[in-house]
Amino acid sequence: MADPRGDQIAEDLEGAVAHGDIEVAYQPEYLIGTGALFGFEALARWTHPEWGPVPPGDFIRTAELNGTIGELGAQVLAIACDVLASWVADGTWSVRMTVNVSALQLADPAFFDVVCQVLESSGVSPQLLCLEITESALASGDLAARALSRLKALGVETSIDDFGTEYSSLSRLQQFPIDYLKINRGFVSGMTDRPVDAAIIDALLGLARSLGIRAVAKGVETQVQLAALEAAGCELGQGFLWSKPLPAAEATRIVEQARRSGVAQPRPRSQGRSG
Ligand code: C2E
Ligand code: MG
Repeated sequence: MADPRGDQIAEDLEGAVAHGDIEVAYQPEYLIGTGALFGFEALARWTHPEWGPVPPGDFIRTAELNGTIGELGAQVLAIACDVLASWVADGTWSVRMTVNVSALQLADPAFFDVVCQVLESSGVSPQLLCLEITESALASGDLAARALSRLKALGVETSIDDFGTEYSSLSRLQQFPIDYLKINRGFVSGMTDRPVDAAIIDALLGLARSLGIRAVAKGVETQVQLAALEAAGCELGQGFLWSKPLPAAEATRIVEQARRSGVAQPRPRSQGRSG
């Protein structure tokens, strides 16, 4: 049923984007084998003045429908890159930032320039930025493939979210310069009880391995899931077992802790997979 607040939300979201009221939360990602901090995923947050926090699953869709997604996405990218710049400012170690990108942003011919401008103004090295897209963006055609390939040439990485849950076309993997494949939370939560979920995860990990793509399990909530993922050979993980998405100040504490304990990842490869 349509939300009767829908029109109001669309109008208020437009105002929030215009006033720079969109905030960003950061969820850490870890290397499963060592427990080392690997990076963060930036997740947009919007608190409606009357109704409180609006789930991003709702307002991102609204932004796509009312045409504000380009500006909203650019703001999230800029905020996340500024935060990342502050984390790696001393140049002794690195951490990655993954930013979600809507298919509509990718289809905009200006997208490449938007990313370049943000990289330049933040001073972030392109190798530390990863753009996360969905399978529908994979299907959105040549413009998206070209933008990602040009960004890849600068060193920016690409992640495919929830691979295997939409309309997967394996041939698309050849066209796109993919570095990471994210495994949907539903498969992870089912893998220890449902043989079919475990089989799907094995298949996804095998595919990723053969193509030289790194796998990230999403929604890891229990030690049992973590052990099963490690046994299956999944390299990276993200989920409430480690941490929920956090405000910048709390994420910064995680970064400082990792830096002090010396388990932060080494400097990134200067060249990713060329696709
Ligand atoms: P996503 O990209 O799949 O992001 C992961 C979502 O799973 C986040 O929800 C996160 O809070 C949640 N999550 C992480 N670990 C766990 C866990 O262990 N258990 C459970 N139950 N949930 C977990 P969130 O923040 O509500 O975001 C929802 C979706 O909204 C995102 O899904 C993404 O598709 C979209 N989104 C968020 N920010 C942006 C953005 O800046 N741009 C675009 N285009 N989409 C965004
Ligand atoms: Mg994501």
